[in-house]
Formats: sequence, C-alpha cells, structure tokens
Amino acid sequence: MKTYRIACIPGDGIGREVVPAGREVLAALAAAQTRFRFEFENFDWGGDYYRAHGVMMPADGLDALRGKDAILFGSAGDPEIPDHITLWGLRLKICQGFDQYANVRPTRVLPGIDSPLARCGPGDLDWVIVRENSEGEYSGVGGRAHQGHPIEVATDVSIMTRAGVLRILRFAFRLAQSRPRKHLTVITKSNAQRHAMVMWDEIALEVSREFPDVTWDKELVDAATARMVNRPASLDTIVATNLHADILSDLAAALAGSLGIAPTANLDPERRYPSMFEPIHGSAFDIMGRGLANPIGTFWSCVMLLEHLGETAAAAALMGAIEAVTANRALHTRDLGGSAMTADVTQAVCGLLSGK
Ligand code: ATP
Repeated sequence: MKTYRIACIPGDGIGREVVPAGREVLAALAAAQTRFRFEFENFDWGGDYYRAHGVMMPADGLDALRGKDAILFGSAGDPEIPDHITLWGLRLKICQGFDQYANVRPTRVLPGIDSPLARCGPGDLDWVIVRENSEGEYSGVGGRAHQGHPIEVATDVSIMTRAGVLRILRFAFRLAQSRPRKHLTVITKSNAQRHAMVMWDEIALEVSREFPDVTWDKELVDAATARMVNRPASLDTIVATNLHADILSDLAAALAGSLGIAPTANLDPERRYPSMFEPIHGSAFDIMGRGLANPIGTFWSCVMLLEHLGETAAAAALMGAIEAVTANRALHTRDLGGSAMTADVTQAVCGLLSGK
C-alpha cells in the first residue's frame, strides 16, 4: 500500500479548525480503501510560534517539509502581528522557497449553494483562475527611506521576467487544454501598464501558437470584473498576474456563494518540491474558536491535493461527498445562511466516504 506523507500547517484563526477537519476527511477516505494511506505530521507554526520564538516558522522549516508529498495549509494572520510579517514569514516563505509558481483556484457554484448573481444557473459559472505566484507585484522588491519625515518614500517594484511569464502562461494554456471548453482568457492591464503588461500580451501570443486547439482572448482587469458579473458563462480558464488574480479570485469566490467554499493549490508543476493546498479564506478572527467555520474550502483543497497525487478516483469520491453535503441545506454553515457547525459538515462528509 502506498504511503503519502502530508504536512499539516493549521496556522492561525479558523485555520486551526478547518485543517484538522480536512485531516479527518482525508483519514476517512484512506480508511475506506486499500490503495493508499496517509502519514500526517503537524507543524504548529504561525502567530503563537512567533510570540514564543520571534519568527513564524523555524529557519530550517523548509527542510522539514521538503520530503513531504504535499502540504495542507490553513491560514496565517494574527490581530497582534502585522500582516506583512505573518504573510511573508510563513505562507510566502513556503510558496517562494518551493517555487510554487502556479496558484490554481477553481470556482464553481456547487449544488445547493446560491450565487448572488440573479441569472446564474448551474454550469454558468465554472472557472479556474491561474494566478502567477512567484513574482510580479508581490515579488517583495522595494524599500522605504526617510521613514516618518515629510520626504518619506516607499516603493513596491513589480518584477515580471520573461521566464516567469512564459512558464505561467504555458501552465495556463495546458490547463485550459485539459478542460472541456479549451478556452483561456489572459487578463492584463496593458493599456495603462505599458511595459511588463505589454510583454505579457506578447508572450501570450507566442505561447498560444504552441496550443492551436485552445481558443483564447484578452481582457483588461477592470473590464474582467464586469464580465465576471455580467457574462460569467463567457469565461472558463483565466490567467492573471499575482495581484490581479488575487483580487479576481476573491470576487470569484463571492460570486460562487461564499469565501468559505473556495479552494486553492500552490503548485510546483515540475514537482521538484512539495505543493501546498489551502482554502482561499483568511484567519477569520470574527468567528474563530466557535466551530462556525465552513470547512468546505479546505475539503475542496483536499480534492486538489488528491488530484495532484494522482489519486483521481479518491478525488472524485471526495468531490462527490462535498457536493452531496452542500446540496443539503441543513448542512449549511452560517456563512451560507445556515446553522450547521464545522463538526456537522465534517461528520457528514466522513460518513458519506465511509458509507455510514
Ligand atoms: P486575510 O487578510 O487573512 O485574508 P480577511 O479578514 O481579509 O483575512 P477572511 O479571514 O477570509 O478575510 O474573512 C473574511 C470574512 O469571511 C469574515 O467575515 C469571515 O468570518 C468570513 N469567512 C472567511 N472564511 C470563512 C469560512 N471558512 N467560514 C465562514 N466564514 C468565513
């Protein structure tokens, strides 16, 4: 029997509720078959670790993760610690350290979930957003000088390299090719940002020639927001920069019913390092510790984890259980207008997987 070694990093806030729920669901899935088993290791990195040690994760933390088959991540954020420390000290350290350059965010209106879009029926909203995850606006290049003085200056430099743009566009075209619609929308802002974004457009045209069976179009990021709301069915696979896709995928999650449902994968497509799977929501301090968190975003992230491991049958079984649970409004958590608790949803999914 195959053993997959999974690192669990719950992090902060509701991450500590949804990651254990995800682990429970993966364990139930493993117990229901004989092909594979999981060996979980938990890492208590995050805000409390920072209070105790002055860092979000140990200096040799990446070495502890290197040999894992995948990472299940919760969220990083703490009301007492500045956001740039929690983000750069943990999540981005792993994403960048393991060159997880493709951030993949599927969005779909699941059975039983209402989209805030009035005319959005089943199948009208079925997108995968590919976010460049290693450079661009979040490259971390910049600085501050003369802090507190009237002449204070600060820069965040957006870095776009040909190699970086080429690899993410190739990944996006390949992903679009694998989906039934075979359609890709390349989102930029090349009217106002006339250097790097124009390079994106040029490289997109070059890469498109390698994928003659994929149809594609271009959209400016501002127009893309309106298109997502007004013509959701016109979109399928979407690729955008680190910042643009960050914003668009939160909009996508809201249009699909709730931030609590949306999953994401931080992939190293070349598989040199472990990839990381996480719900797209943050720490949600307003509801933490009360059992109210919707674990569906984490469960769907586990589906992506299983797909990445090549366990397609198990991934399909888990997605089926998730859809059966969302279809039952009695199992909706508060963010979906229901009163079910994290544990109710988790038990229901585990029950379906183990046939109880
Ligand atoms: P971050 O800066 O870490 O992304 P944030 O505060 O901007 O965090 P979230 O923590 O994702 O964003 O929370 C935004 C809102 O959505 C909050 O009101 C939160 O309660 C709600 N929310 C987020 N995730 C969930 C979830 N899994 N279940 C229920 N509600 C959620």
